[in-house]
Amino acid sequence: MRYLSTRGGIAPLPFCQTVLAGLAEDGGLFLPERIPVLSEEDLRSWARLSYPELAFRVFGLFVDDLPPEDLYQLVERSYRTFTHPEVTPVVKKGPLWILELFHGPTLAFKDVALQFLGNLFEYLLLRSGEKLNILGATSGDTGSAAIYGVRGKKNMAIFILHPHGRVSPVQALQMTTVTDPNVFNLAIQGTFDHCQAIVKRLFSDLEFKRRYRLGAVNSINWARVMAQIVYYLWAYFRVGRPKVRFSVPTGNFGDIFAGYLARRMLAGRIERLILATNENDILTRFVEKGDYSVREVIPTISPSMDIQVASNFERYLYYLWDGDTDRVRQAMERFAREGRLRFSEDEVRRVQEDFLSRSVSQEETLATIRAFYQETGYILDPHTAVGVRAALEFADPEVPTISLATAHPAKFPEAVARALGFEPPVPEPLRDLGTRPRKVVILPARVEAVRRFIEEHAL
Ligand SMILES: *Cc1c(COP(=O)(O)O)cnc(C)c1O
Repeated sequence: MRYLSTRGGIAPLPFCQTVLAGLAEDGGLFLPERIPVLSEEDLRSWARLSYPELAFRVFGLFVDDLPPEDLYQLVERSYRTFTHPEVTPVVKKGPLWILELFHGPTLAFKDVALQFLGNLFEYLLLRSGEKLNILGATSGDTGSAAIYGVRGKKNMAIFILHPHGRVSPVQALQMTTVTDPNVFNLAIQGTFDHCQAIVKRLFSDLEFKRRYRLGAVNSINWARVMAQIVYYLWAYFRVGRPKVRFSVPTGNFGDIFAGYLARRMLAGRIERLILATNENDILTRFVEKGDYSVREVIPTISPSMDIQVASNFERYLYYLWDGDTDRVRQAMERFAREGRLRFSEDEVRRVQEDFLSRSVSQEETLATIRAFYQETGYILDPHTAVGVRAALEFADPEVPTISLATAHPAKFPEAVARALGFEPPVPEPLRDLGTRPRKVVILPARVEAVRRFIEEHAL
């Protein structure tokens, strides 16, 4: 399998090269040349595989430039760090199925992809003898999950930008208490979109990117999307019904884009994807009325979804426009200038065949945490609650809905306490975080400040 760019400006590359590059050199995002569709035979035989075995099979469809034994080892090592034997268990709660994606080392779903990506990077670097400086922006969970994926690994350093004061205290502590010499936390005086813009600017400076061997782990990296496809298939098999829906609390469109690919691979057995947003509703406006226009970021109690520019959206446009890379490139250039895209009624109809969408307010999120706890005894984190609320509103008695639980509630104790009047029990990995030594640098929201820091500290 080879990978093309959504903007059509590069010759297709094999998998390993896309992993190290992150973004394509024409500014586009990597996509596989075709989407594999599972056969009836695959569906029968894959249904009983363990999580790592299933991941190995799924990756095998997309990766043909790694020895299978090595790929299997990487997968096995990556999911051994999860504390649940099923890695991402599916539990029935009230009318919904909950796919628990928070049993990794940082208690959020991004571990599923980033434990794998850290091992994969290290493997590729040891093989080539090269060094890599990972640069990324985070609205909270990506940062800690990336840091835990990379800490202490050979030939790699990691620079993670987060918006100063705009990630939850637990998330900030999870990042800044990692003091390994190869980890650099940069707290930026701005929003997540500023952080993301700085990272994009540095990556688009090809000379700088080459000189400092920059790589990405944020949700634009194809290997992350690929790793996330697995749990959609896994959950489909666990529920064991002919058709399901998924409800996905969405920010950067990474997680739900993996769901879109899983839907294509399962040839429609995922009836719809429910795209749930908080008050930062650009994607909901897109699905409801074809209006993809940027507004100010609103800080909410689900901060990992406080995003206006959804970095993986471009990948979906490629499919919506049947692989017309010129059109994608022109649209993204226009979007960069004008901050908006408009879609025709016909396009909106096609989008609505893939997605249902709902924007959930903070009051509704809190009310959902409360009601769900009263009815089922299960504590939702505020991101998960956004997805659950949307799932309940679109409930269809014929089609079971699987709602993605993207974080452990103990990562967001303030929001849970506002809803329930008490904080969730603190699991082992979060105890004593507040008393550990910290490592963090505060920088202004300017490209030059970050550039200088990297020049001084890169491997
Ligand atoms: C990152 C994150 C999301 C949003 O995922 P995207 O891939 O950006 O759409 C939702 N919930 C939590 C807890 C997250 O960390």
